[in-house]
Amino acid sequence: MQPKNPEEEITRLRIELDRLKNSINQIPPHKHCLNCGISIPPDRTFCSQKCEREWNAMLRKKKINLYVWMVFMAILILILFMAMGG
Ligand SMILES: [Zn+2]
Repeated sequence: MQPKNPEEEITRLRIELDRLKNSINQIPPHKHCLNCGISIPPDRTFCSQKCEREWNAMLRKKKINLYVWMVFMAILILILFMAMGG
């Protein structure tokens, strides 16, 4: 095997780089499932019905938690006011 001349090497590297660029550009537009994070088509939000259900259940749980927390805070403030008043 003969030593390559640098120009040839550079040309080869350029071709390689172009190929890499093309392969990067060829990745189709996609999104990630909100629940599990895997790649999905851009027109979808979840990879499966299961994930959508899980996500909605999680959101509902979060909402309930927030609601419980707010009620708790309201009661706490009320108790504080009553303690100060009395
Ligand atoms: Zn998913």
